[in-house]
Amino acid sequence: MRRLLSVLLSLSILWPLPAYPWWETGHQVVARIAAAHLTSAARTRLARILDVPDTPDAIAEALAKASTWADETKNETKTGSWHYIDLAIQDHKSDIPGRCKDDNCAPVRIRLFAEQLAGHPAHPANTQWSQLDALRYLVHLVGDIHQPLHTISDADLGGNCELLDPLVGKAKNLHALWDGEIIDEINASDKALADELDAAIEDMGPHREHVLSEGKEDDWVWESHELAIRDIYRRLRIPVEPVEFPASCAEAPEEIRTLKLEIPGAYVSEMKPVVREQLIKGGLRLARLLNESL
Ligand SMILES: [Zn+2]
Repeated sequence: MRRLLSVLLSLSILWPLPAYPWWETGHQVVARIAAAHLTSAARTRLARILDVPDTPDAIAEALAKASTWADETKNETKTGSWHYIDLAIQDHKSDIPGRCKDDNCAPVRIRLFAEQLAGHPAHPANTQWSQLDALRYLVHLVGDIHQPLHTISDADLGGNCELLDPLVGKAKNLHALWDGEIIDEINASDKALADELDAAIEDMGPHREHVLSEGKEDDWVWESHELAIRDIYRRLRIPVEPVEFPASCAEAPEEIRTLKLEIPGAYVSEMKPVVREQLIKGGLRLARLLNESL
């Protein structure tokens, strides 16, 4: 009985894994950058799906609003695992498919929803989703995989288990630092930040813009994963744990559970350009997916 109880408890309370959003700002910035780089044909189709006037401003506002719906509904739809992919530090790029059980990970869902928007018959696992839902998932999940801690696990739930001591702003753990705190320190207004990053895209010219938008979802995931190893785990000297995917931080290795991670003073400002580039890439890549699908 006790055993049964503990199994039930672990299923209901500890599962699905917590996967926190890029706080709203990151998703809205990605959506706004994408909206500014749509073809007029894609814009017209988007206006119809979102049920708003076919003007750049109306579409940017509606897409920004749509970008956080997947987080707001993920508990009731039980789709938390679509927002990330757990790749161990020891993994290779070829491990990506094997780490996506039953298609429940961000890169596979991005592909399925992009196909649905393009008018391919819905994947059997996807038939309950409308075109509006497919769009809202696509906008959100492309944002999520550009948050590097949505593409890695060091037996730590993507940095959720490393507590910061002292706190950095509102961030209590490593994941939260990357989800929102660094973005907020760049610019907490999604509209202002998107405008600023759009100006940076203008300055880099069409060739660089095109190069940044290239690739497929697995390439983007792997790029984020390598970035996480370099700029997060190695840089902050977080110990590398065995390949394990605990269901909760209580089950994480002791070394992770007891770590009191002190973030060096210069870290947040040094990571700002990295975060800016991730947001730019997310926006340009989302625009390309939408232009190709719609
Ligand atoms: Zn998410």
